[in-house]
Amino acid sequence: MMKKFLIGGALAAVSAAVFAQYPTRPVTIIVPFTAGGPTDKVARDLAEALRKPLGGTIIIENVGGAGGTLGAAKVAKAAPDGYTLLLHHIGMATSPALYRSLPYKTMEDFEYLGLVNEVPMTLIGRPTLPANNYAELVKWLESNKGKVNLANAGLGAASHLCGLLLQSTMKSDMTTVPYKGTAPAMNDILGGQVDIMCDQTTNTSGQIEAGKVKAFAVTTTQRLTTPALSKLPTLDESGLKGFNVTIWHGLYAPKGTPAAVLEKVNASLRTALKDADFVKRQEALGAVVVTDSRVGSAEHKKFVQAEIDKWTPVIKAAGQYAD
Ligand code: ASP
Repeated sequence: MMKKFLIGGALAAVSAAVFAQYPTRPVTIIVPFTAGGPTDKVARDLAEALRKPLGGTIIIENVGGAGGTLGAAKVAKAAPDGYTLLLHHIGMATSPALYRSLPYKTMEDFEYLGLVNEVPMTLIGRPTLPANNYAELVKWLESNKGKVNLANAGLGAASHLCGLLLQSTMKSDMTTVPYKGTAPAMNDILGGQVDIMCDQTTNTSGQIEAGKVKAFAVTTTQRLTTPALSKLPTLDESGLKGFNVTIWHGLYAPKGTPAAVLEKVNASLRTALKDADFVKRQEALGAVVVTDSRVGSAEHKKFVQAEIDKWTPVIKAAGQYAD
């Protein structure tokens, strides 16, 4: 018994020493959506800012599909050694209500490493859409009932959540076109194959600024200050009283990742979130970097639980499920 204990203790000491060197090889951050989309952009900017404090190479792997749940499942099942992390958004908190069953347990299968940023969304349309403002859009939607396509990144994506709320508050029924991320959806908006989309400013601000898409409103209750977006009205002031969707991103590791690794990643994240270039880049895209206690593991986890409690009744009332 004593011998076993000593061997176990020695092994623990060896593995603690191994993890104290972390990282000794590239760290992969899984993005559960396609490359070039809003979450991918946040992940790549964050990887840049994390590289120095973490002290190693960071690889972004895009695992899109099923509104972010495939990528999250891959991380939940990955080896808990710190070499596979997940950058995910509000879908962590909305998927439990949207899916009857998920291939992972949101509150149990992950280590919570800290919140990264908050991102407003925008309602945009194809450049050839005849409406030029929200009031004209409402009229156009009415006269095109049954013919309007709404793009999203699948059930569980932020674009799905926003589109779902939009349809239920506007009392409008559109045909949903799901993609593996809003990067390919944006291509089809630009090409005129789909009509409208509600998407994160990290994906839309550049296209709005360049005048390549029609932009109708922002989803926050306050107008945004980002120059490219400051002229846009809120949906709330446009007539959808109380409409308010802001999404957020957080960093996760598989459950059971050693404490030494979690501490190193969290300390590196705290440094990255203060990186002036990262902050400036996020602000230019309309995102706000988190500076409060939610960069800590316990507060991040508490926040996700609070978001699940907040969105579950809203989603159930809007009435949409997947299997
Ligand atoms: N964040 C997703 C993406 O990167 C889109 C979404 O959530 O709607 O494509």
